[in-house]
Amino acid sequence: MSYWRLSVLPGFILLTGAIVALMARFVFSKTPMVGALADQVASYAFPVALVLAFVVYMWNLLAVLEWQRNPDAAACRHCGGPLGHIKDGRWGPYSKCFACGRNTPRT
Ligand SMILES: [Zn+2]
Repeated sequence: MSYWRLSVLPGFILLTGAIVALMARFVFSKTPMVGALADQVASYAFPVALVLAFVVYMWNLLAVLEWQRNPDAAACRHCGGPLGHIKDGRWGPYSKCFACGRNTPRT
């Protein structure tokens, strides 16, 4: 079991923020219609993405730490990893594994 999936979504958020900031700075800032807006976006996109990525990472990390602390917590039927929140699906309630990303039915 690995915890690398904890950092996938925060990494994607950071990358998206960096790409948006760079595109706003170097592509759209010279455009006459949206130049002022692009400057604003360029200055705020990456800091907002950084804060959002940190919040998402801490949310996932706290969920995993809570799972580790509870000895009766359900585990993934595929890898034994920690499970996320219970969701309603077509075949009944299920949880997604933080480690492998597969679904485990919850009854
Ligand atoms: Zn799993």
